Amino acid sequence: MSSLDAFAAGKLAALDARHQRRTLVPTARLSGPWLEREGKRFISFSCNDYLNFSTDPRVKAAAIRAVEQHGTGAGGSRLITGNHPLIEELERRLASLKGTEAACVFGSGYLANVGIIPTLAGRDSLVLVDELAHNCINAGAQMAQGAVLRFAHNDLGDLERLLREHRGHHAHVLVVTDGVFSMDGDLAPLEAMGALCAEHDAWLMADDAHGIGVLGGGRGSAHVGAKMARVPLQMGTLSKAIGSYGAYLCASQPVIDLMKTRARTLVYSTGLPPAAIGAALEALNIIESEPDYCALPVEKARRFTRALNLAPAESPVVPVILGPETRALEAQRLLAEAGFLVAAIRPPTVPAGTSRLRFAFSAGHEDADIDRVAALLRERVL
Ligand SMILES: *Cc1c(COP(=O)(O)O)cnc(C)c1O
Repeated sequence: MSSLDAFAAGKLAALDARHQRRTLVPTARLSGPWLEREGKRFISFSCNDYLNFSTDPRVKAAAIRAVEQHGTGAGGSRLITGNHPLIEELERRLASLKGTEAACVFGSGYLANVGIIPTLAGRDSLVLVDELAHNCINAGAQMAQGAVLRFAHNDLGDLERLLREHRGHHAHVLVVTDGVFSMDGDLAPLEAMGALCAEHDAWLMADDAHGIGVLGGGRGSAHVGAKMARVPLQMGTLSKAIGSYGAYLCASQPVIDLMKTRARTLVYSTGLPPAAIGAALEALNIIESEPDYCALPVEKARRFTRALNLAPAESPVVPVILGPETRALEAQRLLAEAGFLVAAIRPPTVPAGTSRLRFAFSAGHEDADIDRVAALLRERVL
């Protein structure tokens, strides 16, 4: 065996021994929450397509129209020839939804975070990151040239301690958190965090991947309280509730202008294909006109948490924490036998010893199916 293949095989064997190896399974997504694997149909509680827009006839038609008018690919970086007219329309619509001066669309959420954070945090900066923040926030912080520290999850006291201790030693401080935590479904205390950051002249960025479309009347997690949280950097993705692909930063005009000239993942990567933009624009049309529909995923999640006597869901994401990897994998297998697809999430995506089933609820889930899956969990897993 070559040293290269021996390296890969050794890594895989170590992951297997820890029950942490992952493999891809061909999966055909059907309509609503349904999908098909290995010839079997399942109800999925694992898709982030909270509003089922990725198979919505109106959204699909908008994507097809965009392809017919503008073709399949952007043809280049946005700064060369890839700045499709529909992208600018989408940026205006996102800024208006989020209540900011401007917006910048990126290729994906991962690319956005890896582009935005190093653009704002140089050698003279400190980045403070919630310990449970998404992997791509940590990747962005690693790519920034300054210092990086973690604060305890959603712990304003710990964040304040770090700000008091370190603010004076850095020209700038960027604080980054998920708005909705992707594996736990809880919300960051953005109103209080925004006030704390403003007090210390730190810049707050919230990643609203799981908030846009489904919280705050569709406007996202910075908009759930009585007044809008002070979050000058509102980032999010178009690949979850929006049902498409791509991501955005909504912020002031100078910040957005800086991104468009300096963020490496915007400058050196091809613009989004027209179909993705056309779909996202139609999704925003529906979000803005159907607030009751947008509220459904959280209502469905609350039906589930009531049935299991868990704390009421704050978002469409609900974890059922089981501990060891093997226990989560076994629960996943048992639910799959009953026709429910729920992904077991294991380290390093979540901390060691907190392997879990991660439930994601969508507008299209039937109440009866939620009740059935909850009963099965109560009787056979918990
Ligand atoms: C999914 C996710 C991302 C990545 O977004 P993509 O568009 O899928 O690359 C970023 N941040 C959070 C919190 C996420 O859950």
